[in-house]
This record gives sequence, C-alpha cells and structure tokens, in this order.
Amino acid sequence: MTIQSNPTVFADRHIGARRQADVERMLKAIGYDSVDSLVETAVPDSIRQGTPLALQPALSEVEVLGELRALAAKNKTAIQMIGQGYYDTVTPAVIRRNVLEAPAWYTAYTPYQPEISQGRLEALLNFQTMVSDLTALPVANASLLDEATAVAEAVLLMRRANKSTGAAEGKTVLDADLLPQTIAIVRGRAEALGFAVEVADLSVGLPEGAINGVVLQQPGVSGRVFNHAPVIAAAKERGALVTVAADLLALTLITPPGEQGADIAVGTAQRFGVPLFFGGPHAAYMAVRKGMERSLPGRIVGVSTDTTGLPAYRLALQTREQHIRREKATSNICTAQALLAIVASMYAVYHGPEGLKAIAETVHSHARALAAALAASGVELLHTSFFDTLTVHVPGRAGVIVGLAERGGINLRPIDADHVGISVDETTTADIVARVAAVFGAVPAGDGTDQAGSAGFALTADTERTSDFLTHPVFNTHRSETQILRYIRRLSDRDLALDRTMIPLGSCTMKLNATAEMEAISWPGFASIHPFAPDSQTVGWRELIGGLEADLCEITGYDQVSLQPNAGSQGELAGLLAIRGYHLSRGDVQRTICLIPQSAHGTNAASAVLAGMKVVVVATAADGTIDHADLTAKIETHKDQLSAIMITYPSTHGVYDADVREVCDAVHAAGGQVYVDGANLNALVGLAQPGKFGGDVSHLNLHKTFCIPHGGGGPGVGPVAAKAHLAPFMPGDANAVSTGPATGVPISASRFGSAGVLPISWAYVKLMGGQGLTEATKSALLAANYIASQLNDHFPVLYTGAGDLVAHECILDLRELTARTGVTAEDVAKRLIDYGFHAPTLSFPVAGTLMVEPTESEDLTEINRFITAMVCIRAEIDQVADGAFDLADSPLRNAPHTAAAVVDSLWDRGYPREQAVFPVDSLRQDKYFPPVGRVDGAAGDRNLVCSCPPIEDFADNATDFAN
Ligand SMILES: *Cc1c(COP(=O)(O)O)cnc(C)c1O
Repeated sequence: MTIQSNPTVFADRHIGARRQADVERMLKAIGYDSVDSLVETAVPDSIRQGTPLALQPALSEVEVLGELRALAAKNKTAIQMIGQGYYDTVTPAVIRRNVLEAPAWYTAYTPYQPEISQGRLEALLNFQTMVSDLTALPVANASLLDEATAVAEAVLLMRRANKSTGAAEGKTVLDADLLPQTIAIVRGRAEALGFAVEVADLSVGLPEGAINGVVLQQPGVSGRVFNHAPVIAAAKERGALVTVAADLLALTLITPPGEQGADIAVGTAQRFGVPLFFGGPHAAYMAVRKGMERSLPGRIVGVSTDTTGLPAYRLALQTREQHIRREKATSNICTAQALLAIVASMYAVYHGPEGLKAIAETVHSHARALAAALAASGVELLHTSFFDTLTVHVPGRAGVIVGLAERGGINLRPIDADHVGISVDETTTADIVARVAAVFGAVPAGDGTDQAGSAGFALTADTERTSDFLTHPVFNTHRSETQILRYIRRLSDRDLALDRTMIPLGSCTMKLNATAEMEAISWPGFASIHPFAPDSQTVGWRELIGGLEADLCEITGYDQVSLQPNAGSQGELAGLLAIRGYHLSRGDVQRTICLIPQSAHGTNAASAVLAGMKVVVVATAADGTIDHADLTAKIETHKDQLSAIMITYPSTHGVYDADVREVCDAVHAAGGQVYVDGANLNALVGLAQPGKFGGDVSHLNLHKTFCIPHGGGGPGVGPVAAKAHLAPFMPGDANAVSTGPATGVPISASRFGSAGVLPISWAYVKLMGGQGLTEATKSALLAANYIASQLNDHFPVLYTGAGDLVAHECILDLRELTARTGVTAEDVAKRLIDYGFHAPTLSFPVAGTLMVEPTESEDLTEINRFITAMVCIRAEIDQVADGAFDLADSPLRNAPHTAAAVVDSLWDRGYPREQAVFPVDSLRQDKYFPPVGRVDGAAGDRNLVCSCPPIEDFADNATDFAN
C-alpha cells in the first residue's frame, strides 16, 4: 500500500503520520513491511470483519460544511418560551469565541494533573463558588450531567446519607411541580434499585408514612414560587432529608434553598450563557450542606498548596472516585460537563452580582407585565407568585393557542388541553411580551416592563432574597471586555491542552478535534433549538441524528443505537438497564449478577450497582487476559442468577484477547448477556464489530473515538448500541409530551441527550468515510506499536498479544524501576511536564504503570519528541540508580519546575538549572512553565476548601514574591 498524501482529502489531515517515508520508518522499527501485515498479526482472525464498512464515501471539508448548513436550515428557529428546564440565553460573544469555540479550552483533558490544569481548575472553582453563593449551601461540585439526573443523584445521596430511625428505609417524595422529565428519571432509577417513590403536591403538606427524602422545585415547572421553609421544617421533623431543584437565575431574587433549611440543591446552569443545544450539553450543579461533602457525587475542585507553599487548585477527594471504590462508589459519573460549567462561570464573572440581578429583574418584570396584561383581559393564571413562568388556564383551547403562537414564530408549552405554559427569559423583549399577549387577545400596559397593574404579582416577602452573593473579587473585577478577554486568556495560558502538545492518555483517546468538525455547533440552526420544540421545527436535527445512528450501527455491527446517554457511564447504565429489562420480560427476575473483570474501568462496577445488579469480580490471568478458569468457575456458581458479563474490548490492558468469542459463548450458554465496553473502539473501527463477535450491547464514547473534545472533563456522548432483541429496552423519552419509541427506562432529561455536540461526530464520519476511518484505526495501531517498540528497552511494555504486539495503547511498567530506585510513575508523569507534555494515564488499570495511547492524529515528529523525553527521563532514573544524585534532590522528584523555582537566587540543588528546565534543546524555543510546583494532594483533602479562597491568601504569597 503506497500512501499518496493529498491535502484536500480530510483523512490525510486527520491522520498525523501519513507520509509514506514516516510510515515505513515506523514499520521498520517494529519489524513489519506493511501496515496490513501488522494489523493482520495484531487483530485476531476470529473477530476480524469480512467486509469493509459500507458508509457514504468521504466528503471534503467544504462539502461537509455545506451539508451541515443544509441540515441547520431544515431546523426552524423560533422565540423559545417553552421553558420546562430550558431557557434561551445570550452567550456573550467574548465567551463564545474564547471559551466555547477556543481549542485551548475545549481540547483540554480532565484536570487530573493539577500542575498543568490551574486555569480550568480556577474556572471550575469559580463555578462552585457561584453555585454555593446562589444556593447558600457551602459545598458545590464542578458539574453534573443534566438537571434530571442531578436530582436522581441527589435522591441517591439522600438514601445513602439518611440513617435516621424510621426514615432511612422510607419512600422518596417528589413534589408534583417538578419537571416531568425529572420525575421520569427518578422513577426509572428507583425502579431498578427497588425503593418507593411518591409524587404529591407538597404545597399542602407531606404525605403519610416514612419518608427518606423530599424533592421540591423552586420555581416549580408551573412557575409557582412559594415559601418552602414550612414544608422543609416538617420534613426534617420526620427525619427526612430535603433536596431543592432551583433555578440559579431565580435565586438572585428568591430566598435560596440553604436559607430555607434544604440539605441539597441541584439544578442546571444552562441559562447562564449556554445555548439550548436541542437539549444539551448543559452543566447541572449540586451543592450540599456541611457534613455531606464526602458523599457528594461528581468532581470537586479544592484548594491545596504546592511544594513551595503556594496555593494551588486540584481535584479534591479523588480517592473516592470509581476506580478505587468501584461498586461502592458514590456514583458512576466520570465525564461531566466541565466546558459548559466554565462557560456558565464566565457568564457570572462577566455580569457580576449586579448584572445577574438586573437580568433576573428584567425577566421578572416582563413576566409580570405579561401576567398583568393577561389578567386584565380576563385570562386566568394558575399562580400569582412566579419568577419567569406563567401557567395559563385556557379551557379546551391550549392547542389552538399554542398553534397560533407558533405561526407567529413563538413556541409556548402545551401542558394539556386546558393549560399553556409561557417562560420569559433573558432574550425576551417588550415587543415579544406584546406579541404573546396578543395571542390571548390581550394588550400590555405601558412599555411592557413597567409595573403598571402588575403590583399584584410581586414576590411575597417570605420568598424574597435579602442576602448577598458573588461577593468574591473575581465576580467584581473583570467588567470591561478587555479585562474579561485577558482573564480568559490568562487562565487558558496556564494549561496544557491538545492545542500545544500530544496528550498520550491511554483509555482516553485524545485525538484531533478538527476545527471543521467543531464549526457547526454554535450555528443558531443547531444551537438555538429547544429540546421540546415541535417536530416540524427539528427536521434537520432528527435527520442528522438518524444518520449518525445508522452510521454507528454499521460501524459497530449492532441493530440499534440510542444517542441519549450523555457520557460513557450513562451509556453503561442504559445498556445494563436494557439487559435487566430483557431478563424481566422473560420472567428471569433472579438474573441479577454481573461479572466484571478485575481490570475493568471503575465506572463498570458503579453502573452495574445502579442497574440493581450485584457485582462478581473475575480474576485477571498473568498475561493480562481474563482468567478462564476463574470465569468458568464463576459462571458455574452463578449460572442461574447470571445477568451479564461486562468486558472491555480490546481489554483495558490494550491487548486484543484472542478468545473473546469463547468468553461470549460461555456467558450466552449460561443464559447471560454480553456487555462490551466500547470506549476502546478506536482499536476496532473498520476492523472488527462488537455486535458481530459476541456483544449484545455496548456503549461507545463519542468524546474519545469520534472526536468530540474532552472540554476539560466534558461534555461527552456515550451512545448505547444493541442487538435487535434488546432494542425494545433502549432508553425511552423522559418527556412524555414528545413522541418517540418510549419503551425502556429514560437515561437523560432530553430525548437526544447532548445533541448539541453531535454535529462533531457526524462530520468526522462523513469526512473520513469507511476507508478513512479504517485507516485511522490502523494508524493508531501503528503509532502505539511504534512507541511500544521504541520504549520497551527503557520501560518494559507490560502486556502484549499475538506477535508481541499491542492494540492502540501500551502499558509501560515502572514497578521494577520503582522498587530499585524509588522513582515512581508519578515522578515520571510530573517530569514530563518539564518536557512540555501531558502525562500518560497514571496507575490505571495497573498501579505503578503509565498507559500510553498516541492515537492516529500525532505525526512522527511529535511521537519522537515524546519518545525522546521518555528516554531522557529513563537516563535520569539511571542517574538516581547510579547515585549521581539523590532521589529527593533529583529533577524527577522536584518536577515540575516552575519559573519561580529556577530563577530563585538560591539554587542549591544537585543538578544544574539547565537540566531542570531545558533537558532537551528544543525546549529553549518552546517552553511551557507550570504556574505551580508539585501539588500536595493529601493536604487539600484534609482541609477541604472548595470555593474561591479569600483573595488575601493569594495576596500574601504575592508579597512573598515582591520580597
Ligand atoms: C472513559 C471510559 C469509560 C467512562 O466514560 P465516561 O464518558 O467518562 O463516563 C468507561 N469505560 C472505559 C473503558 C473508558 O475508557
């Protein structure tokens, strides 16, 4: 195969090492004469697909953008006043272009390496502070997936945390005024876990019986605002915990949940500058009272110090994450919504407390003006105390009214035959108020914002907020466009993302997120569509989604795909719930055991528990494959209760297990289903299909293999793909109003989850075509095997398969070196920062190792730069072994080196400054200095600080510098 690189063929730009000479050099190093012979040896015959992918031929960037424009044009934008958890908002252009559309932000990885992540950690800490201030609860996390699933997480948190006698095993009570999609999601989770849920009107008091926890919503979906304090007090009296789902914008005017006695507040930050995106991605939030922080799901940014005592941000309480706690984890959430949380936090930084309050007051006054006009013309309102949403009683005329408004370019919410909902938002003008009023035959008084006649609709004193919020300087400084632009830039300059360096993270597939793939996501034809808009307005969206689903079916060999799950973890839960539904439909209620290999990703075990399953661990053999004797024994012991096995393929060890078909057959023979974790699909696309080699269901990670960027820890899309027999149990639609194959348990608030980022994966598939995708997979194998071959003498590759080859990633084993010299895998990870690299995956799936995945997008020069860095680091380890320097006084243990450390006039280390910062010459031109030295993990966990610290902490240190 001779490769003719052609700059207009997208695959030639997506694949980094594409020049014939480069490919030959890499092949020679591995000892193969063609990529195909390498692939034939590495990928077992038994799983290889016989025919090439039958996808549309590759299109050029120009053609793909043309098709996307045509699809966007088939969607119809409207004035979106449907509400129900989604509100139009203005994304300030400076934030849209410099955060949402800026590679420095969107190509960053989850901030597990704090030294190269201080910028996004600060932005996420701002998000937490904003949430904490607005809800008046002291500890907030750095985002959850969507509002409805955040409520489900809160319900589970209450069930874990509530140990009070009589209440612990009680039911969960949901207020009837919750978002309907929230009720559907909570019911779905509760059904799998077997606890009772009751929906009741809590404005008239609590129902009888033992209550574990209560969920209220402020304002309710009807728009109603009422004082929650009495019902919260009554719930507490009975030993229940209380969650309030609250609108952050409303909380600038309304008494926050924390001040009314709530234990937990949840909700979405969508209307803080994040487009509607046809339902997502949006950042949900959760805040808790003191004492509950250690069981808070999701990621929490905390403040610690670096080795020099400087304050430094890091992810706190990382030890609680799924990888350690597995089936005992607080939640299965891994990828969350970091990028959208950052957008929302910047919106608060941009507007400040006065700006947010002014927006809220305008929204409220427009809603009041509309209410006054409607009331004056005799239209009946369900509630007179509201923030932004009115529920209007129009007996028998709801359909007509909604249709009339739609013809005038305005979407209202059809609730039932007699009721219409109207939600005002930041984009609503006096003219829009007048147009909506006209639909009901009413005319607003005055200019549409004034208080004439609307005095009756003021918030009652007992619901009015009196406390301050967002008093921290960060929310009160960056007022001019120049200031905010520089603040955004300053933060991103502190970080390493894919726009500066390869990120060789095994299991995470940090590949190119091409600009052409990203372009469409902020076009109004995609971004400004409400998830509950009528189907006639979403033709383009549904065509794009249907096309992507069909392409993913072809790629995976499954019969049906649902794009609803908004992360891999959610795809796992959806797939396992489909398996559960299937067994139940056949009367196999006892099939609840899920076999999971020891090496599995931590989310697997956590998801199985959420699906109501019991986890049984299968041992790993010495060569890294599944221990067949143990598997046979476990199947035998549990065959009557066997629900499923969850395997990852290629395994998390980065190797193609040759007898995966036998594993699948053995499980099937015992009546179990096979779940193939498809997060490693980058090693399979075009070569093998999990739906054809034994899988019944899989999830894929579009934010890994299919080019959706990681966004500093989200968004993600984790489609679930299944064979026909499981299709009836695929995720249903949580919103009862819209139609769809609402069969299985809904998994996300909106029907298509994080729809807003699907144009990225759609474009990737179209740009590559079947052949390009297959070549990408082969190139990923080539790059991984090249790295393995070049580094094996320096850091032994732990597991290999046929022909001593790896799949798309390789595990470098440092344990022997660590035992001999004391240098740890973490030292190597931190030292790589001095070479300008993001570390590979550290200590997963095997402690004391580094897992390297170059992906197909890196060119040979960059791959060689990485290899050189690793070889130089190995030489430094040898210097420790030889006694040339002490480990404690080595460039390894002192890594990473900040600029401050090396310009200190006192340099008394056992190695020269040049070795600290310029260990290879090329760094003299392109040097990245981390803003902080190595961060102390334990200290941050002991003293958990997870909102913006008082500015003086930083000022004190600034004075140290001055001295
Ligand atoms: C990334 C990953 C997951 C989890 O995906 P999220 O989107 O982070 O929830 C699950 N399994 C494997 C093997 C993975 O690599």
